Amino acid sequence: MGAGPSGSAAAYFLAARGARVMLVDKASFPRDKACGDALTPCAIAALQEIGVLPDLLRTGQRIAGIEVVAPDGSATTAPVPAPGGLPVPMLVVPRVALDNAIRERALRSGAGFAGGVHVGDIDRDGAGVIVRGTSHERPVAFAAPVAIVATGASVALLRRMRVLARTPEMMLAARAYVNGITGPSDRVQVRFDGVPLPGYGWIFPVSGSSANVGIGGVAGPAGLGRVGPPPAALRSFLRRLSHLGALGGGRPETPPKGYPLRVDFPHAPTSAERVLLVGEAAGLANPLTGEGIDYALESGRIAADHAVRMLEAGDLSQARFEEYGRALRARFERLFAFCRWLRGWSLRPPLVNRLVRAASRHTELRTLLLQIVLGSRAVPETPPSSAVLRGLLARLS
Ligand SMILES: Cc1cc2nc3c(=O)[nH]c(=O)nc-3n(C[C@H](O)[C@H](O)[C@H](O)COP(=O)(O)OP(=O)(O)OC[C@H]3O[C@@H](n4cnc5c(N)ncnc54)[C@H](O)[C@@H]3O)c2cc1C
Repeated sequence: MGAGPSGSAAAYFLAARGARVMLVDKASFPRDKACGDALTPCAIAALQEIGVLPDLLRTGQRIAGIEVVAPDGSATTAPVPAPGGLPVPMLVVPRVALDNAIRERALRSGAGFAGGVHVGDIDRDGAGVIVRGTSHERPVAFAAPVAIVATGASVALLRRMRVLARTPEMMLAARAYVNGITGPSDRVQVRFDGVPLPGYGWIFPVSGSSANVGIGGVAGPAGLGRVGPPPAALRSFLRRLSHLGALGGGRPETPPKGYPLRVDFPHAPTSAERVLLVGEAAGLANPLTGEGIDYALESGRIAADHAVRMLEAGDLSQARFEEYGRALRARFERLFAFCRWLRGWSLRPPLVNRLVRAASRHTELRTLLLQIVLGSRAVPETPPSSAVLRGLLARLS
C-alpha cells in the first residue's frame, strides 16, 4: 500500500511479471507531494526501465549541471554526465505528474488501483495478509499472500503494526514553486549559504521561468529547528534569495509545503511477517541530500523481484523475508554510510567553504564528489579518516 514511486514501481514490476497486484492509497490521484522534484541519474535509469522516461522527457525540465554555493557565497559548477545510453542526466518533474505516470504504468501492466483507502492495519492469517482500511468511512479489506508497505515517511501504520517501536530519525524539508525566475534553467542550484548546517537550500528549475525552491535539514533545535518550522525557514530563505537577486525577480506562486523524510536506513526494519517495506517506509532517503525517489524506485524493483521468487518457490518463510533486507543493504548500505559521514563534515561551514573552493579548482575532485553524492559512482569501502580528509584539503587549498 502506498502509490508513491516505491509502491507504484513495486506494483509495475510485479504486474509485469504476471503477479496479481492491488495498489492501494489513501489519496485519489493525481496527488501532490512536497518534494524538490529532482530526478538523479540513477532515478532516470530506473524510470527508463519502468518505461515512463519518454513521456517524462516531453514535459520535464532537462538538467545538465549542478551549481554548489558554499556558506561564504563562493560557488562551483559541474556538468552531470548522463547514465550510459540515456538522453539526459537529470530531470525536474513535479511529483503530481511523476507519481501519476508511474502509477498509470503499473495499471497498464495489469495492476488494480484503489484510491481513497486509508489503510489502518495489516492482519496475518495462516494463508497470508489481510490489509484493512476505510474508504468513505466504510471498512474495506484486501487479502493477499504478501503485502508491500510503501507508505513513505508517515509511520502511523508501521507503529500500529509494531514494526516500528518509536518514531525514527527524520529530516525536515519544505518547498514552494516560484514563478517569474530568470537565469539558467538547465542546471540545479544547491546552496549552503543562509541555511543551518547540516542542511541545504535548493533552486530546481521546473521550466524556463519557474522553479521549485526549498530548504531541508536535520530536525530539532541544532538543525533546521533553529530557524523555526520548515515553512517559516523556507520563507526566510526565499527573502534572502530575493535580496541576493538569486530569483531574478521571481515570486512564490504557492505557499511553502513541508514534509519529513525518513533517513534511518540501514537500521530501519525492512520486513515483517509476510510484509516487505520499500522506499521511505524502509528509511531510504539520503541523509545528506534528502534524495529518495531513486531509492524508492530501486527498492520497489528489488522487493518485486524478491516477492516473485518467494511465490514461485512457494517459500514464504520468515528467513526468505529477511533475505530481502540483505539485498537492500548490499545495494544501499555503503552509500548511506558515506553520505552520513559527509553530512557530519558538512556541519562545519569553514570546511564546506574549503571543499567548494577546492572543487572549483580541481575537476577530478568536483566530478568525484558529485558522482558519489548522486549515487552514480561506487563509494569507498570505508570513508577516509578525518586526518586523511584534512590532509587532502590542505594539499588542494
Ligand atoms: C520537501 C522535500 C523535498 C524532496 N526533494 C527530493 C528530490 O528533489 N529528489 C528526490 O529524489 N527526493 C526528494 N525528496 C524525497 C522524496 O520525496 C521521497 O523519498 C519519496 O517520495 C519516497 O517515495 P515513497 O514511495 O517511499 O513514499 P511517498 O512518495 O511519500 O508515497 C507514500 C504514499 O503512501 C500513501 N500512504 C501513506 N500512508 C497511507 C495509509 N495509511 N494508507 C494508504 N496510503 C497511505 C500516501 O498517500 C503516499 O501516496 C524530498 C522530500 C521532501 C519532503
